[in-house]
Amino acid sequence: MTASAQQTQAQRKQRIAIIGGGPGGLTLAMILQKNGIEAVIYERELHDTNRERGGSLDIHEESGQVALKEAGLYERFQSLARYEGEDFRLFDKTGKLYMDEAAEGDAHGARPEIDRGVLCGMLLEALNPNVIRYGYKLTEAVPLGNGQHELRFENGFTDIVDLVVGADGAFSHVRPLLTDVNAAYAGITMIELNIPDVANAHPDLMALNARGKMFALSDEKAIMGQLNGNGSLKVYLCFKAERDWLDTCGIDLNSPEVAKQQLLSLFEDWDPSLQKYIRYASDKLVGRRVYMLPVGHQWERRSGVTLIGDAAHLMSPFAGEGVNMAMQDAAELALAIIRHGSDLDQAIAQYEPSMYRYSSESARQSRDNLELIFGANAAQRLKEQFDQIYQEFAQQSNV
Ligand SMILES: Cc1cc2nc3c(=O)[nH]c(=O)nc-3n(C[C@H](O)[C@H](O)[C@H](O)COP(=O)(O)OP(=O)(O)OC[C@H]3O[C@@H](n4cnc5c(N)ncnc54)[C@H](O)[C@@H]3O)c2cc1C
Repeated sequence: MTASAQQTQAQRKQRIAIIGGGPGGLTLAMILQKNGIEAVIYERELHDTNRERGGSLDIHEESGQVALKEAGLYERFQSLARYEGEDFRLFDKTGKLYMDEAAEGDAHGARPEIDRGVLCGMLLEALNPNVIRYGYKLTEAVPLGNGQHELRFENGFTDIVDLVVGADGAFSHVRPLLTDVNAAYAGITMIELNIPDVANAHPDLMALNARGKMFALSDEKAIMGQLNGNGSLKVYLCFKAERDWLDTCGIDLNSPEVAKQQLLSLFEDWDPSLQKYIRYASDKLVGRRVYMLPVGHQWERRSGVTLIGDAAHLMSPFAGEGVNMAMQDAAELALAIIRHGSDLDQAIAQYEPSMYRYSSESARQSRDNLELIFGANAAQRLKEQFDQIYQEFAQQSNV
C-alpha cells in the first residue's frame, strides 16, 4: 500500500462529527466527501429549514465562491446565482437617492446573490444522504481526556468522535468547550417582512427597489429591501432598541395588520415611497435581535474540537460576510484535515490561526458598518465609504 493510500485509510478511520447543517456545516461535509473523508452532520431540526431562515445572500469571490470551487459545485452555483442581484440603491428617509448601481447586463460580477435555501439545497443534493441526520439536537459534548468527545443528544443518542466541529450557529452548544464568551446583543433589533411577487403585485415598489438591495438610512434606523429568487421582496426594518423591546413594545407581530400600522408610526416622517415597504407587506412578520461575539475573539486550542461560522465569530449582518466566512472556514478546515491526514490536532493548529486572521477583519468591518448605518448622516457616509473603496480599487488596478 502506498503512503498516500495508507494516509487516506487512516483519515477514513477518524470519526468526524459536524454539529449543524447550515451553510458552514454542509460546505465542510461536502469538501470532505469530495476528498474521500467521511463525516456525519447532526442537525437539530427534523428537516432542512434553511429555506425558512432568511433570504438572499451575496457569495463573495474571495471566500464563499472559493469554498464552492473546493466543493466541486462552482459551475452549479453559477447556474443558480443571480448576478443581476448585485444592483444596489441607497436613499435617506426623504427619498433622496445617493447611489444607484446596476449590475452590468449578464457580466459575471464578484458578489452574485443566491437564496439561502437554494444554496443549502444545492449542497444537500450533492451530499451523500446518509451524511446528515435530522432530529439530533446536541445538548452536551463531554471531553473524554484523550482528544475524543462524547456527544449527547436530546433524543437520547450518544456518539464518541475524534473531532467535533461546532457549526451550530450563534448560540453554539460546542463553543462552551473552548470559551466562556457568549454572543451579546448588539443593540439593534430587526423586523423581517415579506412582500410576495413584488414585480406583478407592486410594480411601483419593484421600480424603486430594482433587482437587488435597497438601503434607506436615517435617524439611526434603516429600511432594507432585498429581492429574492422567488420574486418576493424581503424587508428588514432595523433600529436601535433595548434587548427586551420586542417583548415590551406592545406590537403583536402575530396580528400583522395592526402591527404594520404600529411599525409605520416608527417611520411616520419617512417618504411615502419608502413606507410602501411596510404597507405592502403580507402576513408574516418576524422579530430578530442582532447578536455578535467580540471582534477578534480567540480561544486556547484544545484537542479534538473546533468551531466554524457563526459559532466561531458571530458578527452582525451589516457587511454581508457571515455566510461567506462560514463557507471559507469550512474550506480552510477541510483542506487542513486533508493535508494533515490522521493528525486532527495539527489540522486544528493550521486552521484556527488562519481563521482568526481573516474573520476578525470581516467582524471589524461588520461592526464598523453597524456603527455607520445607525449613526448620523448614514446615507451620505455610506456613499463616501463606497466612493473610497472604488477609488482604492481603481488605484490598485492602475498600478
Ligand atoms: C436576518 C439576517 C440576514 C443575514 N444576511 C446575511 C447576508 O446577506 N450575507 C451574509 O453573508 N450573511 C448574512 N447573515 C448571516 C448568516 O446567515 C450567517 O452568518 C450564516 O448562516 C452562518 O452559517 P453557519 O452555518 O455558521 O450557521 P447557521 O446558518 O446558523 O446554521 C447553524 C445550524 O446549526 C443547527 N443547530 C443549532 N444548534 C444545534 C444543536 N444544538 N444541535 C444540532 N444542530 C444545531 C441549526 O439548526 C442550523 O441548521 C444574515 C443573518 C441574519 C439573521
